[in-house]
Amino acid sequence: MIPYGKQTICPADINAVIEALSSNLITQGPKVDAFERAVANKVGAKFGVATNSATSSLHLACLSLGLSVGKRLWTSSNTFVASANCGLYCDANVDFVDIDPATYNLCPQKLKKKLIVAEKADQLPDILVAVHMCGQSCNMEAINTLAKCYGFAVIEDASHAIGAKYQNQYVGNCRYSDITVFSFHPVKIITTAEGGMAITNNIELAKAMKNLRSHGITNDPAELKDTNQGAWYYEQTALGFNYRMTDLQAALGISQLTRLDEFVERRNQLAVRYNEKLDSLPLTTTTLLIDCKSAWHLYVIQLENPSYRRHVFDVMREQGIGVHVHYIPVHTQPHYQKLGFNWRQFPTTEEYYHAALSLPLFFNMTEDEQDQVVATLSNAISSALNARIKSKR
Ligand SMILES: *Cc1c(COP(=O)(O)O)cnc(C)c1O
Repeated sequence: MIPYGKQTICPADINAVIEALSSNLITQGPKVDAFERAVANKVGAKFGVATNSATSSLHLACLSLGLSVGKRLWTSSNTFVASANCGLYCDANVDFVDIDPATYNLCPQKLKKKLIVAEKADQLPDILVAVHMCGQSCNMEAINTLAKCYGFAVIEDASHAIGAKYQNQYVGNCRYSDITVFSFHPVKIITTAEGGMAITNNIELAKAMKNLRSHGITNDPAELKDTNQGAWYYEQTALGFNYRMTDLQAALGISQLTRLDEFVERRNQLAVRYNEKLDSLPLTTTTLLIDCKSAWHLYVIQLENPSYRRHVFDVMREQGIGVHVHYIPVHTQPHYQKLGFNWRQFPTTEEYYHAALSLPLFFNMTEDEQDQVVATLSNAISSALNARIKSKR
């Protein structure tokens, strides 16, 4: 089976983890700090807060920005459930903004329309989570302008987009957002097995997230209420969690990060090659905006005729091609239906979903494997078209 995505682990990665495993501190040690500094430096931001997953980072980001019961978080529905669940964790109300059909990202024009309506109803959002679908940045400048105008905070869910660029700068510099979140799950661009990081230029947000990452506990003398205690003393100042990353994971992350640009470059080459090879087939590929360089976490095609998506998917899986579908619209999930959402609420997201198919794309993929994917796809589409012609006769 050619998987839709997989990690690349090299001997240097393995050695880095072995070295970390032999050191005194295998969690809460120096590797976590070093990884945080390395990622922040790489993307051009001030602070990094490493966690055990991007899901945890999104939760901490929302809490540090003051999201709580009765407040509102908006995101796009074309995403992994975690981008919206972080709002529910904080007992906030979650709502969605429809996407741009060309980039599959949250559409700033649709956002503006929704904000105008929300303002009249006195229901403006407190936080917007902008998801960089497939690895291409959202139009952050437009989103930032709206954020200033309507007074909401912005979190970039860049789980797909470490190493991507927007306006010639790395995604994650937080120029147009309060916090950016990365995921280091094995299918993403670089991995720590499980892991995530929240990036920010705001020291107060960074401090709040670090505090909440570890039970809401502090032993920093500058922060203690009671300074008249021994060295054992700490205070719990908020209800936090154990969302910590281990030093083993951080060591792997530091090693992986050194190859980030190489990983993204190869993914771009493979994406360009897919675009060329798929040109004559009845499907559309992702439109890239001029000021975006995608990290290409996912290579998604949209079939011209969604009625045979299931057939194409099944045929390709049977023939060993690990195609996938990203994403089932979050608002249609049973849990979200219980909250009152339903089909037909976000039509562009739903149309996109019915036609979407993710083709395998990973750093170590060979051109032969890629040709095999294209040939299998082409045959699967032909067999679907032939079956349709026969059934019409
Ligand atoms: C993978 C992913 C997440 C969650 O990442 P974890 O590190 O697995 O928690 C969140 N949002 C998006 C868009 C993702 O793709």
